[in-house]
Amino acid sequence: MCGIVGYIGKQNAFPILIKGLHRLEYRGYDSAGVALISPENQLNIYKAKGRVSKLENSCKSKDVSGHIGIAHTRWATHGEPNHSNAHPHYSQSENLALIHNGIIENYVVLKEKLIQKGYTFQSETDTEVLVQWIEYIKESNKTDTLAAVQLALKQVIGAYAIAVIDKQHPDHIIAARKSSPLVVGIGENEFFIASDASPIIEYTNKVIYVEDEEIVILSQSGQPKIISLSNVEKTPQITQLEMDLQKLEKGGYPHFMLKEIFEQPRTLRDCMRGRINVDCNNLALSGIFNHKEKFLKARRILILACGTSWHAGLIGEYILEEFCRIPVEVEYSSEFRYRNPVLYPDDVVIAISQSGETADTLAAIELAKKAGAFVYGICNVVGSSISRNTHSGSYTHVGPEIGVASTKAFTAQVLVLIMMALAIGKERNSISQKQYEQILSELDLIPEKIKSILKQNQAIEDLSKIFTYAHNFIYMGRGYSYPIAMEGALKLKEISYIHAEGYPAAEMKHGPIALIDNEMPVVVIATHDATYEKTISNMQEIKARNGRILAIVNKSDDNIKKIADYIIEIPQTEECLGPLLSIIPLQLLSYHIAVKKGRDVDMPRNLAKSVTVE
Ligand code: GLU
Repeated sequence: MCGIVGYIGKQNAFPILIKGLHRLEYRGYDSAGVALISPENQLNIYKAKGRVSKLENSCKSKDVSGHIGIAHTRWATHGEPNHSNAHPHYSQSENLALIHNGIIENYVVLKEKLIQKGYTFQSETDTEVLVQWIEYIKESNKTDTLAAVQLALKQVIGAYAIAVIDKQHPDHIIAARKSSPLVVGIGENEFFIASDASPIIEYTNKVIYVEDEEIVILSQSGQPKIISLSNVEKTPQITQLEMDLQKLEKGGYPHFMLKEIFEQPRTLRDCMRGRINVDCNNLALSGIFNHKEKFLKARRILILACGTSWHAGLIGEYILEEFCRIPVEVEYSSEFRYRNPVLYPDDVVIAISQSGETADTLAAIELAKKAGAFVYGICNVVGSSISRNTHSGSYTHVGPEIGVASTKAFTAQVLVLIMMALAIGKERNSISQKQYEQILSELDLIPEKIKSILKQNQAIEDLSKIFTYAHNFIYMGRGYSYPIAMEGALKLKEISYIHAEGYPAAEMKHGPIALIDNEMPVVVIATHDATYEKTISNMQEIKARNGRILAIVNKSDDNIKKIADYIIEIPQTEECLGPLLSIIPLQLLSYHIAVKKGRDVDMPRNLAKSVTVE
């Protein structure tokens, strides 16, 4: 997710805040804003949709004086990217201003209570609800802002890094975090806050990493104070930063793609947030629930997508058919739109696109809508064309994806399809309660399991050296692993420019096996699933023709160790969740091969992030 910056001290806050926002631009965002308390005690908020430079230009004629301020780059989760939804947000009295990264899950309940009390809202965001809630507590409990923040955050469910300023107390910034990053920089009689150290490093190398459920109080005089939500004062732990600026951009990773691969434990958690309950026995997808009857009556599900999203769709086909017993077809949007397809009014169409702007998918949606079908969108970008042009949908909530080769958006698309299959299956009674709960509990473990795979990054990098000189690759898998074989091959093609093909393992003998020789690396996804034994036979066929096998296996698989030349171990999981794990080593493998070949990993030749032309 995007960025927050704050400053309190003797210098003019505005230039420091704007520079800080520029430093955070690498995180991606859709709008920006700043709040300053002027020497005359005015609380001024300025915002702009689009780039930080636009905000900067629009402030040229404005009063930007003040030694205390907060600033934000937003990546919309609740409400379109526009001026009124941009942060900072005022409280009702306009005494408080607040910035927020993250999602307040229970904002609807809090908003309803506030509306009953006469509060009005200028935006559609969950964030504005939080600042109003803080003010409501402050006024109804006749308490100070700090106590109100503390009480309010105790009632909030979700993820946040926030900063609040109060024009009645212009000598304080109050900041807090839970599940979203927050760093405090300590200068000489001046303090900084930010989402990461990149806006801070040029002023000081002394920082405090704020922990979950901690509130930090920065004042013009005195040292930072840290208290917990339950009011226990803590001694701030000051850390010396040794990073240089270049490294700090991209969050310390050499490429956005690697950063985004490593973000997946968190992005999948964010995607589940507010949808799967803490006991893992229930799942709420409002996009499905509000249109239940469409899914109950559906004659067929059609999934329309392009590229990586199409691979997510193929996994969706397997899981939706398994748990919902509805026939599913997956189509390339570009083919579908030009082939006079047969469509029924009781078809449900699922359109998948990271950017929500894919031209072919947009056109295919229009066609489906004309035929009377119900269209459900799965997108990452809030307010995108697809999200506006579909009847319902779910966002993937993974934050901006900047690397052109999709990684974290893909796993979240698969996760949304899994959650959809569970939600629809439950409505249709086509999944047993036991299996439903078992998959939900296992989903809860997926982020940790991905972390354990990411720990093998160095080993995968070492392995990649062996394959850097290959000219061709074959990837194979069966069942849920077949789309992963295709996605693994696509990742390699996209960023290393090595030719690669993904195949269903049993299809090998119908043609591609002719390509096998001792120069052909074959990547096999051979995890313990329904077709495990059959995949082993397919591997034997490769081995008999001197192919070189790299197998993705479950831990302690001695059978495959005897056949494969190289192995990467991943943890066991429910069969339908396997793709969420097996794709991770393949993403890393492609990444390292491409780096070794000196490719422009984040911006591969001839490719665009958002394909807005057909
Ligand atoms: N949920 C908030 C919004 O949509 C904050 C998003 C962010 O992290 O920038 O405005």
